[in-house]
Amino acid sequence: AIEFHHVRKNFTGQTILSDLNLTIPAGEIFVLVGPSGSGKTTTLKMINRLEEPNAGTITFFGRPVADYPLQELRWSIGYVLQHIALFPNMTVAENIAVIPEMKKMSRTRIQERTEALLAAVDLPAAEYAQRYPDALSGGEAQRVGIVRALAADPGVILMDEPFSALDPLSRNQLQDLILRLQAQLHKTIVFVTHDMHEALKVGDRIAVMHNGVIHQVGTPAEIQQHPATNFIADFFAGAE
Ligand code: ATP
Repeated sequence: AIEFHHVRKNFTGQTILSDLNLTIPAGEIFVLVGPSGSGKTTTLKMINRLEEPNAGTITFFGRPVADYPLQELRWSIGYVLQHIALFPNMTVAENIAVIPEMKKMSRTRIQERTEALLAAVDLPAAEYAQRYPDALSGGEAQRVGIVRALAADPGVILMDEPFSALDPLSRNQLQDLILRLQAQLHKTIVFVTHDMHEALKVGDRIAVMHNGVIHQVGTPAEIQQHPATNFIADFFAGAE
């Protein structure tokens, strides 16, 4: 599990998160959902130490993240962002190979993984491996970003609004895709979104955040049937 214990985070004197406590179980898609500015991205970034807390502890499978060598921590965690930054001068296959190469994975293994993962995201290697990023649609680039995050086989994937920049159809396809992949891979996925429909669709468990406070953690059914606060009831009122 990934656990937050009494975590506080300030930015320029302002407290964004005052006392965050959260347990993210292994092997699930755990969604952090809430309106813009509620502190979701900051929470996510403290897991891979792109941000450091001002107080409290975050443990990653029993050990404080602060105690890991940074490289070991980052190699254990894949990261997918809203706007994937693929290296424009590298092919799809080269982009995917960057971290596996740093980890000294063999050439053959990298090639096998690249082909298998591209196939799993419906981008056949024969057609896509040698393309450059500027020849990909937004949805295709996000798929490559997912493959790149999975390439070195990390146990944990952090996804920050991974589908928010896509059109509704691509978005829906990628949500289905992540559910299909997860059924095979059983990764620990922490998924940030401001979209309640997306949260209900992809989440095994959902934490609803507002103004730096977790209002409720539960399964989609629990949250919809028994919203803990008026804020949650209102937030999910539009969801079927
Ligand atoms: P969004 O969906 O808009 O990204 P969020 O829920 O992910 O929102 P955060 O990005 O975590 O929220 O931001 C929480 C608060 O912290 C916001 O008020 C934001 O302005 C502030 N904040 C985030 N990063 C910084 C920073 N580097 N310096 C100062 N303030 C920051």
